[in-house]
Amino acid sequence: MVELKTPGEIEAMRAAGRVVAQSLAAVRKHAAVGVRLTELDEVAREVLRSAGATSPFLGYRPRFAPVPFPAVICTSVNDAALHGIPTRYQLADGDLLSVDCGATLDGWTGDSAISFTIGREHESDKRLIDTAYDALKAGIAAAVADAKIGDISAAIGAVGRAGGYGINTDFGGHGVGHTMHEDPSVPNEGRAGRGLRLRPGLVIAIEPWFLAGGKDDYRIDDDGWTMRSADGSRAAHVEHTVAVTAQGPLILTAL
Ligand code: MG
Ligand code: MG
Repeated sequence: MVELKTPGEIEAMRAAGRVVAQSLAAVRKHAAVGVRLTELDEVAREVLRSAGATSPFLGYRPRFAPVPFPAVICTSVNDAALHGIPTRYQLADGDLLSVDCGATLDGWTGDSAISFTIGREHESDKRLIDTAYDALKAGIAAAVADAKIGDISAAIGAVGRAGGYGINTDFGGHGVGHTMHEDPSVPNEGRAGRGLRLRPGLVIAIEPWFLAGGKDDYRIDDDGWTMRSADGSRAAHVEHTVAVTAQGPLILTAL
């Protein structure tokens, strides 16, 4: 079921989204060579705690997962694309890190992700990350009233494929509201003009993730969560929670 939010509810969701943005900004600031992924999780926990927010990630257990998620952020390094569990791994120069974070505040949830390099950036990683952000921007621009979900999917997919990157649609965007994952699903590739009509009040997470090797396959680690490119190539993942409004798309997970 797709739930539409009132302008007042969208404002409340914006407050939750702002906590997510603050958390990601703090994590990004703290991330450096030698820092452990578990330390980044602590940084995010502190931001959520001081904002009075809870984590929709912590203890989350969807059907595919053998164990509940043990952290408030996902940290996916290099060939890991999504759902990386923060371990005691110490970040190294040139690592490509994707951080995904959610927050629930006053019963409303926000969901956002960033990708960036630790230390010196490889040219190929810069192109991959820039392309993911370009796709996010294109997807958000397509999230206007009376367009279709397929228009967002097509916009994201076109940017990723033009870059020569692999796209897998097993995981992608989704509705956001009282919980993190709601209807509708927003695939990262699809046909323009197809799917649900976008109406003011629809709130969705738009989240392109691309695989540098150009192939679409992934594998999952023994931890049951961490998703990696099957070919070992690097991955980037970026995300915003966005409201469709009469005035155009509104990013809720911004500072
Ligand atoms: Mg997310
Ligand atoms: Mg999401």
